[in-house]
Amino acid sequence: MGRKFFVGGNWKCNGTTAEVKKIVITLNEAEVPSEDVVEVVVSPPFVFLTLVKSLLRSDFHVAAQNCWVRKGGAFTGEVSAEMLVNLAIPWVIIGHSERRLILNESNEFVGDKVAYALSQGLKVVACVGETLEQRESGSTVAVVSAQTKAIADKVLSWENIVLAYEPVWAIGTGKVASPAQAQEVHFELRKWLHDNVGAEVAASTRIIYGGSVNGANCTELATQPDVDGFLVGGASLKPEFIDVIKSATVKKND
Ligand code: PEP
Repeated sequence: MGRKFFVGGNWKCNGTTAEVKKIVITLNEAEVPSEDVVEVVVSPPFVFLTLVKSLLRSDFHVAAQNCWVRKGGAFTGEVSAEMLVNLAIPWVIIGHSERRLILNESNEFVGDKVAYALSQGLKVVACVGETLEQRESGSTVAVVSAQTKAIADKVLSWENIVLAYEPVWAIGTGKVASPAQAQEVHFELRKWLHDNVGAEVAASTRIIYGGSVNGANCTELATQPDVDGFLVGGASLKPEFIDVIKSATVKKND
C-alpha cells in the first residue's frame, strides 16, 4: 500500500519547560517500531519548539501547531512559515478545529495557509472534521469534502500533506469514533481525493484519525484499512502515547 503509519502528538497550549522535558525523556527512552514502520511527529507550543527539537531523539520529528497565512511582516502575534523553516521545523498542523471554531478560520483561509506553508517547504497535517450537529443532520461527508476541497483548490501537490480526520465531537471528549465510523469517513475522503484529485493521490495520501485516541482504543482503530495513523491530543502528553505509536505494527502484519 505504501502509506507509512503516521502518529502525531498535539500538545496544544500545555506545558512548562520542566513538563516538556519530562515528556521528551519518556519519548526518548521508549522502545518503538522503527522509522520504516511509523513516522512520529510531536507538536509542542511555539515557545518550546526549539527546545524539544534539540532534545528529541532523531527518529522523531516536530511540528508547529499553526503558522501565518502568508509571508511574515506586520502581523502581531503571528509566526510565519519562513520562521519555522529557518528553525528547521519540518511540519505544521493547519486547520485544527479549535482554530476553525474558536478563531473563526474559514475553509478558504485554511486552504490558503496549507498552500503557503507547502510553498515554503513545510509538510502539513491538514485537519478536517464535522461538529456533532453536522453529524446528526447527516452532513458529515459534505462538510469534510468541502473542507478538503478548499485545500485541494489551492495546492499544487498532495505529496507533503497528511489529512487528519478529526470529528469535533470526539476531540477532548473521551467519546472516540468507533472503528466503523472512522473507516466510513476515511473511505469517503479517499474516494473524494480519487474522484477530484486523482487515483495516485488517493492511494498515497495518509488519512489519519484524531479524537480521543488513547492507548486502549488505538489498536482496533488502526486495523481499519483507510486509517493510516493518528493525531493524538490529550494522550500525547502521557506515557500511553508510546502505545499509540506501537499500534503501527498492526499495519506491518497486513
Ligand atoms: C486533537 O486535538 O487533535 C485531538 C485529537 O485531541 P484529543 O486526542 O485530546 O481528543
